[in-house]
Amino acid sequence: MRVGHGFDAHRLVEGRPFVLGGVRIPFERGPLGHSDGDALAHALADAILGACALGDLGAHFPDTDPRWKDADSLELLAACAELARGAGYAIGNVDVTVVVQAPRLAPHLAAIRSRLAETLRIDPANVSVKAKSSEGMGYTGDGTGIAAYAVALLERSNGA
Ligand code: MG
Repeated sequence: MRVGHGFDAHRLVEGRPFVLGGVRIPFERGPLGHSDGDALAHALADAILGACALGDLGAHFPDTDPRWKDADSLELLAACAELARGAGYAIGNVDVTVVVQAPRLAPHLAAIRSRLAETLRIDPANVSVKAKSSEGMGYTGDGTGIAAYAVALLERSNGA
């Protein structure tokens, strides 16, 4: 078994859709980024790559490459899961914590879990997504940005 950890943060600005875990959530601001800025997807992709010691998302999908401009980050996440499978690993379970003051994420967590499970091709029971506020402190608390932390457990597969 191998464990991987990932972190990501994006600035929240006006004029950008708020996309998290592939789910579009109504809000007046959204993550700034070369791709769609999906911090959850990026942290989770890094956790999966990290478990395989395959570098990070930026190494595989550089933000200097116009191909990934406004990219759907779930496609990047799916590609990272494929890299892990190619390296001989099956994704066991993943756990993500998102830190943001607003919008309220609780009503969207089930949809996010379902999208992630579909993207990773694992059972939704093996996908956990939690939302926290930082109680008004720091960049996640004052509305400047959003952060996500993820861990992934991968297991050597038998060529499956
Ligand atoms: Mg990112």
